[in-house]
Amino acid sequence: MSAVNLLDLDLDALAAWCGEFGEKRYRAVQLFRWIHQKGESEFARMSDLAKSLRDKLSGLAVVRPLTLLSEQASADGTIKWLFDVGGGNAVETVFIPEADRGTLCVSSQAGCAVGCRFCSTGHQGFSRNLSTGEIIGQLWYAEHHLRQRLKLATGERVISNVVMMGMGEPLQNYHALVPALRMMLDDHGYGLSRRRVTVSTSGMVRMIDRLSVDCPVALAVSLHAPTDALRDQLVPLNRKHPLDALMQACHDYLASAPRDFITFEYCMLDGVNDSADQARELVALVSGLRGSPRVSCKFNLIPFNPFPASGLTCSPRDRVLAFAKVLQDAGIVTTVRKTRGEDIDAACGQLAGEVQDRTRAQLRLTRPVIRIEAASSVAP
Ligand code: SAH
Ligand code: SF4
Repeated sequence: MSAVNLLDLDLDALAAWCGEFGEKRYRAVQLFRWIHQKGESEFARMSDLAKSLRDKLSGLAVVRPLTLLSEQASADGTIKWLFDVGGGNAVETVFIPEADRGTLCVSSQAGCAVGCRFCSTGHQGFSRNLSTGEIIGQLWYAEHHLRQRLKLATGERVISNVVMMGMGEPLQNYHALVPALRMMLDDHGYGLSRRRVTVSTSGMVRMIDRLSVDCPVALAVSLHAPTDALRDQLVPLNRKHPLDALMQACHDYLASAPRDFITFEYCMLDGVNDSADQARELVALVSGLRGSPRVSCKFNLIPFNPFPASGLTCSPRDRVLAFAKVLQDAGIVTTVRKTRGEDIDAACGQLAGEVQDRTRAQLRLTRPVIRIEAASSVAP
């Protein structure tokens, strides 16, 4: 029987597992705190655990961290790690320090099956879902490694925010994602506020509904287009889950957590989705959201980060600002995302890791995208 990786278990699952060999829940809490709060992976060093429990554990379980392949640091302080997840696959994790917070951008899959037109991960195709342990293992590594490096006192934390915006579509890996989110929020784990843990999705409608019940963290929805015709081309998932279903899911998400808002991400693509008319269409699209869009949503405009083979370019700065102004004039809080870690290819959409593609996504993506090219050719 292979040893259980305790990074795969949230606190309830760990308590149930410990219960199987007669250990009480408070023992599981102690163990969980050693692993996630202190970053300890050796049972022998968990000094206040009963010796009998430590002995049992060493036969049955391990704390198996990810294998680090490389680390790159950007001139702006951003750090990118590449982790080996076996089978020729590797995923990336990015730490973004700011004056008032430390944000970790976490991957959920090796590759991504959605295949968005403008995304480097999507161009690689899909290999496999990460396990819960591989998702939380990114936070485990980053938090404890940085604490040591910065020589922080016990109890001081480096990472205050997690965004599920690395490689992969988190809601296509729902069963592994939810326990990892619970560990992030758990006071015996990382103790992050649910408003500081964000799941970003390209629009998995039914899973948005489930998330609002199972683990209502902050939600970001990658919109990128105001109409189905354009979104079908940019985010292929839209053909299955069109905009009216997506907006209904957003509406319902807000109904279940009334004081929250949804962040709409919108990647600014030159001549494709960045005209003032398209901004006005967006205002109309979100006007049906619960409450008023002034309080229920925000827009985050992401300047497109180019990568070889995308065939797309970023909107010029003045067009991004004009687009933002249309939204702001309608009363919607709109920010333009600052690009971080560009010099180490760590910016949004540039995470490529290494993926042994087991899908036919590459073929899908090499077909010409007629509508985008037509739109580009009439751009000012
Ligand atoms: N799969 C999820 C989360 C990962 S992508 C999603 O799509 O939401 C995180 C964000 O980066 C998304 O908003 C995505 O649209 C955006 N993104 C992808 N490629 C990009 C690129 N090349 N430039 C800028 N943003 C990009
Ligand atoms: Fe997947 Fe998100 Fe990239 Fe689309 S933008 S291909 S959903 S990772």
